Amino acid sequence: MCGIVGIYSDKDMSKELYYSLYSIQHRGQESCGMAISDGENINYKKDMGLVGDVFKENELSSLKGNMGIGHVRYSTAGGSHLANCQPLVGRCRKRKLALAHNGNLVNANYLRDMLEEDGYMFQANSDTEVILYILARYYKGDIVESLKITMDYIKGAYSLVIMGEDELVAVRDPNGFRPLILGKKGNEYIVASETCAIDILGGEVIRDVEPGEIIVIKDGEMKSYLYSENYKSVKRSCIFEHIYFARNDATIDNVNAYDFRVKCGEMLAKNDDTKADIVVPVPDSGWAGAIGYANLANIPIREGLVKNRYVGRTFIKPTQEEREIGVKIKLNPLSSVVKGKSIVLVDDSIVRGTTSKLIIKSLRDAGAGEIHLRITSPPVKYSCYYGIDTPRRSNLIASENSVEEIREYIGCDSLEFLDIEAMIEATENKATFCKACFDGDYPVKKIDKEEPLSC
Ligand code: 5GP
Ligand code: MG
Repeated sequence: MCGIVGIYSDKDMSKELYYSLYSIQHRGQESCGMAISDGENINYKKDMGLVGDVFKENELSSLKGNMGIGHVRYSTAGGSHLANCQPLVGRCRKRKLALAHNGNLVNANYLRDMLEEDGYMFQANSDTEVILYILARYYKGDIVESLKITMDYIKGAYSLVIMGEDELVAVRDPNGFRPLILGKKGNEYIVASETCAIDILGGEVIRDVEPGEIIVIKDGEMKSYLYSENYKSVKRSCIFEHIYFARNDATIDNVNAYDFRVKCGEMLAKNDDTKADIVVPVPDSGWAGAIGYANLANIPIREGLVKNRYVGRTFIKPTQEEREIGVKIKLNPLSSVVKGKSIVLVDDSIVRGTTSKLIIKSLRDAGAGEIHLRITSPPVKYSCYYGIDTPRRSNLIASENSVEEIREYIGCDSLEFLDIEAMIEATENKATFCKACFDGDYPVKKIDKEEPLSC
């Protein structure tokens, strides 16, 4: 998973791009980059590490210009090296192009074979390079025409920001799997994965980029094109963005992540008559759901787990051993809160089961009584092909285990998940969603046999 942002301005915007990118850091912590056009040239910097480490605020002077794109990248096992950092910058028919991508193509390996047969040489193994090369191959001076052809080839999930020396382009795939939001501040246009990147600049959110839409901002004007007049776009906004991935303050496809999460907690509590002394959220992802649950169940909410804020996301560590020690370093129970108490523990999701198992053990060691685990999403049974880093099916604990088997493995006294219908109800039908990770109903079939590296 990744985060992207693009800014078109009439003045130097490098600091604004930096702040925006900073605000979407949660979408990727492995590497980051910014490419900025000064009208003639595209300069860029990208590296492994966090935005605040790679870019020092007072060193942005070498990256000046009125237009730029930025990217933060989320680690996927094996793909962690400099060559996969974005934006990708290339030269094509005497023009420079920069591109940043969020999503995952389902036919990248197939397309790569095709391009390699044509003599293209790849520098890295991400699916984004495939997009750039196809775009370059069909670019004859009109970016919209070459994008339409590119979109005929590439299948799957892609939100893109693309920059030529004098134009900024935003593209969302015909299903709109990944978010992409358009905002404005005076004469400036901002496109970003999440609303916070617009909010923090004092900009106004205009709308979501629509599925299959190509937005071109050039000469101070914005124009919108459709990928195909004949193609009927079906919005399949990723529900997992709302469950886990996006920040609480994100509004994507008219659904606010925080409101949705609180509602999911309420829905869980509605049919639950568990008696407990306290509701304990698993920080940070379980907070909003726990607030909803506690309010509706009328049980006090207490901070029973203390989080070390300096530890990144533990889920992404490549080995099980590292993940286990990662969870221990990250979360510690507050024994004065949990000792002798029966607890409703609320988290947003169970993927492998590692986190919950370790948390429950540490809560028991700290003297907790009964532990009733409540998950504000359905069991994750199917892998995601569209960019969420849910591992191979065999690693998903719910793919082959019943709720009772999961409960036994995790070691809690009772376990409940939200069901799919209640989850959709919590969106108030404001959009239509991809929920393939829960029901296996994939809107776009996977073509590659192997998993290409996603972003
Ligand atoms: P598990 O230990 O079951 O594999 O992971 C569940 C925990 O990981 C939950 O607390 C949830 O918030 C978090 N989680 C779920 N999906 C993702 C993801 O795609 N990335 C990261 N970093 N964490 C996730
Ligand atoms: Mg979590």
